[in-house]
Amino acid sequence: MPRAVLAINAGSSSIKFALFEARHGNPDHRLSHGQIEGIGSAPHFVARDGDGAVLTEYRWPAGATLAHEDLLAPLLAWITSHLGADSLAAAGHRIVHGGGKYTRPVALTEAVIADLARLVPLAPLHQPHSLAAVRAMRKLRPELPQVGCFDTAFHHGMSATATRLALPRRYADEGVRRYGFHGLSYEYIAGRLREQAPALAAGRVIAAHLGNGASLCGMHDGRSVDTTMGFTALDGLVMGTRCGSIDPGALLYLQQQHGMTAAALEHLLYNESGLLGVSGISNDMRTLLASQAPPAREAVELFVFRIAREAGALASSLGGLDGLVFSAGIGEHAAAVRAAVCARLAWLGIRLDEAANAADANLISTADSRVQVRVIATDEEAMIAAHACAVALPAPPP
Ligand code: ADP
Repeated sequence: MPRAVLAINAGSSSIKFALFEARHGNPDHRLSHGQIEGIGSAPHFVARDGDGAVLTEYRWPAGATLAHEDLLAPLLAWITSHLGADSLAAAGHRIVHGGGKYTRPVALTEAVIADLARLVPLAPLHQPHSLAAVRAMRKLRPELPQVGCFDTAFHHGMSATATRLALPRRYADEGVRRYGFHGLSYEYIAGRLREQAPALAAGRVIAAHLGNGASLCGMHDGRSVDTTMGFTALDGLVMGTRCGSIDPGALLYLQQQHGMTAAALEHLLYNESGLLGVSGISNDMRTLLASQAPPAREAVELFVFRIAREAGALASSLGGLDGLVFSAGIGEHAAAVRAAVCARLAWLGIRLDEAANAADANLISTADSRVQVRVIATDEEAMIAAHACAVALPAPPP
């Protein structure tokens, strides 16, 4: 019977999970993955094997109001029936915000959970979901070690200058500063890059996590130097439905001239902007790339323009550039977007190998490109599982 570790990534409408063999906690030993989706509307639990085949499925009645315990109970029951009682050795959770204090994965005790709840005002749309899943797991399996893995932690080494906002100091004292996010993804990418191209990994690299949420991270020797997301996950690039960097004066205008409340602005900036807002068609890059409509093209052009602009800024923070890594849904699969970004960054010495790019190959720059360009599939759940193993199941002394 394998000992297993469960990685949980709880969001507002879905809980994604992956189950790994505890011995390694790496993607080569993934036993299953899946999600509980449609939370709040038509909840549905599905677990799949490595090839995507459905292993088990469960649907709750549509409209059922369910607590996180109700949602996670069938997952735990399935793990027991699939792997055997006592097979689950630990659970790791993606926690969006660790504030300035949680700079590495940590065992989730009651005191830590209470501490993390104090960070809810810094990430009101995300932190409560992470903590609800943690509390539900504690209720269902009080004896199970649980580990918190923070999206902010990878960036904790950024300089004071890179984290400062140009506001009066009293706001920084209450935590209003740049944190950066997508840290589990960047940590995973940095690790894979170290395996695939150690010399490059030791240099100055920009990693581009381009999914529904999107950001760039400038890394030197695998450590975050600067990143495009800041105080919240709204900052930086144009995203599926989020605006990215915006002149704060535009928000004052919307408040003053349109009478928009904080709640209305929040909805506009997180849910109605980005690719969806500019195209008026979709937040999905596949749909936009397939469309001939001018607003769809303009949305993609803006997405690319802003990646290139921010990459230029990060190259400056890094003092030059040796590598560029594309990752997440768009970065891993949208060759046209990669090509357009690389064309705009040709001044940095990037030369794209068109055939390798079209094939989604790992190395997509030419041999004479001054900057190496790579595609690395990210795996936040694998990173969570690795952390959960390291914190909760330390190897016995030799
Ligand atoms: P999330 O941030 O929700 O985890 P993903 O990393 O899965 O998102 O990325 C979702 C984005 O990736 C969507 O915009 C989707 O259109 C895009 N995407 C996925 N596959 C492709 C593809 N083959 N070509 C272009 N875009 C793709």
